[in-house]
Amino acid sequence: MSAATLPASQKPHAVCVPFPAQGHITPMLELAKILHARGFRVTFVNTEYNHRRLVRSRGAAAVAGLTGFRFATIPDGLPESDADATQDPATISHATKHNCPPHLRSLLAGLDGVTCVVADNLMSFSVDAAREVGVPCALFWTASACGYMGYRNFRLLIDRGIIPFKDEEQLTNGFMDTPVVWAPGMSKHMRLKDFPTFLRTTDPNDVLMTFQLQEVERSEYASAVVINTFDELEQPALDAMRAIIPAVYTIGPLASVTEQVVVRRGPLDAVSCSLWREDQSCLAWLDARKPRPRSVVYVNFGSVTVMSGQELAEFAWGLARSGYDFLWVVRPDVVKGDTASAAALPPGFLEATEGRGLLASWCDQEAVLRHEAVGLFLTHSGWNSTLESLGAGVPMLCWPFFAEQQTNCRYKCVEWGVAMEVGDDVRREAVQARIRDAMRGDKGKEMARRAAEWREAAAGSAARSLANLDRLINDVLLSPAR
Ligand code: UDP
Repeated sequence: MSAATLPASQKPHAVCVPFPAQGHITPMLELAKILHARGFRVTFVNTEYNHRRLVRSRGAAAVAGLTGFRFATIPDGLPESDADATQDPATISHATKHNCPPHLRSLLAGLDGVTCVVADNLMSFSVDAAREVGVPCALFWTASACGYMGYRNFRLLIDRGIIPFKDEEQLTNGFMDTPVVWAPGMSKHMRLKDFPTFLRTTDPNDVLMTFQLQEVERSEYASAVVINTFDELEQPALDAMRAIIPAVYTIGPLASVTEQVVVRRGPLDAVSCSLWREDQSCLAWLDARKPRPRSVVYVNFGSVTVMSGQELAEFAWGLARSGYDFLWVVRPDVVKGDTASAAALPPGFLEATEGRGLLASWCDQEAVLRHEAVGLFLTHSGWNSTLESLGAGVPMLCWPFFAEQQTNCRYKCVEWGVAMEVGDDVRREAVQARIRDAMRGDKGKEMARRAAEWREAAAGSAARSLANLDRLINDVLLSPAR
């Protein structure tokens, strides 16, 4: 008998523990919905800080849950705040690692009939908590396989004396351009600067470098590792992962898998964990541009990226001079410092682009990327954004900010052929030229062709990823802990 047909009292109970950042919460919620659709009762564990934000942005009803799907909270030790602000990644990593473990243990001990734990790989303390109550724990790596191997290679870079850096000068004197052709599982086109940015330190105890390395190395202790990617896209990195972790399940692109099992516009579909309020006007604005397919540049740097006012101005004038229509999501806190981001837009920009551009503060990105009017995505290269863009067949212009976004960017440009880079030091002339090239130039045509191929590959992999998920359920989540 499958779990979906069991009476409520006998249904298995999965406890899902996301890392408290948007790019991690979103895929964990997708996975939780699939488990629910497959017959699990789900307890989705938010940290208190984020839960308060969710209730503020979505309203209590959107996070109230429904039959067999409920939210629980654990303290994270982050300061109470009313601001719609993103926490600094080092602060979140430190706070969750030091504050959450005892609270998760007591939550698990108090819940009835827990069958399994599915936790973010960056919440790897969940493996010990699950072991205490005698249930299996799958760790969910929500980023790319190439990013995962990028972090795993920190160990070899340390052993070879390359990191931590000898001095600050190595960040600027060309050392970062050193080719790294020997890293297991990685592209032969890697340079030091394409590895996750947390290696850019002279401090051997740097919080983010040591945190990320520990977390990826701890994935070996989990019952399984689940990853939001598909084999065709990342075969070499996945092979390298499988050589060090016994059970790796590829379940991506999750959005396509969800589509197969979760009823659109049903009660489960309505459960949302978007930390920002969505601007509803974006899709209607794009609809008005339908007669000109692939004519709009969509710009969004995700939930964590911050930039200076000068960088914002360079993007603004680059967009203005490109001549193309654009939908630009300017998060309220995207500009570093106290200024509200929209207020930091350069004087004269709105007048210069009148009738051509829409500014919003947050949107339904998946729907935007799937809209036929969108022809290019100017992105920070976060993994969810990357997969959503590949799934929609939209080529990209990349301005990676941090973490493994640099690695994703390198793969998109040289391995998958769907993107080009803006360049670290953003200049309006370069933004203008790259947009024109990507929208109309020969390189752009080739990128669009490859993006269309990846869209087909992503769609084609959804059935296999769903089969992998069902194997995960039967072989790991419903099996006794090993
Ligand atoms: N997102 C969204 N609306 C926005 C911006 C982002 O729904 O206006 C979603 C996006 O679809 C993706 C996630 O937020 O699923 C961002 O994750 P990603 O890994 O791309 O980047 P991060 O925010 O972690 O840097």
